[in-house]
Amino acid sequence: MIQEFNRSKDPRLGPGSLWVAMPVPACRALTNAGQVKASLVLFALMIHSSNQNSSVFPSREVIKKFSGVGKDSITQSIKVLEKFGFIKVGKIKNGRTHRNNYEILRACWHWTEFNKYASRYKMPKGHCTKCQNWIYGSAWTYGGRQDRLANVRTRIHINCGGIVQDLTKKQMLMVRKMEESGVVPFPY
Ligand SMILES: [Zn+2]
Repeated sequence: MIQEFNRSKDPRLGPGSLWVAMPVPACRALTNAGQVKASLVLFALMIHSSNQNSSVFPSREVIKKFSGVGKDSITQSIKVLEKFGFIKVGKIKNGRTHRNNYEILRACWHWTEFNKYASRYKMPKGHCTKCQNWIYGSAWTYGGRQDRLANVRTRIHINCGGIVQDLTKKQMLMVRKMEESGVVPFPY
């Protein structure tokens, strides 16, 4: 990994620069999952890491300061990050008490190394006809609509109440390919 960093061709990253690699797949999957706060908490952890060390141990106070996420939501976000396989939480001794140690895992940067929970947010399952967003995971609920002959079950986007349209396999793969290359897929 350090080798990769040293070989970077980015002209902004010469000697004296201080930076870490943004985990694009993790941030996109968390956002697709409606877990923006977890994405911000991951950012707060990242900013304390370096290319030499992927284990960090900021206090909750520090995480709050860098993420803007409240303490209760930090607890929730840490659970989400663990469940998605993006971090591993351990304990380190801090005088008489213990403190959390967060190891930022490889899957954050690799779509192909996502676990089964994170993978649900790789491929869109539909498209919302109202807010125009791609729908991932299970961001819909079922709504009944009385047709002349039968009950028609429609999928309703939880966030906006719009009707969710199915995507063809080809459309799904097209969005997937764009996500992988870091291009923001239309119609965001
Ligand atoms: Zn919508």
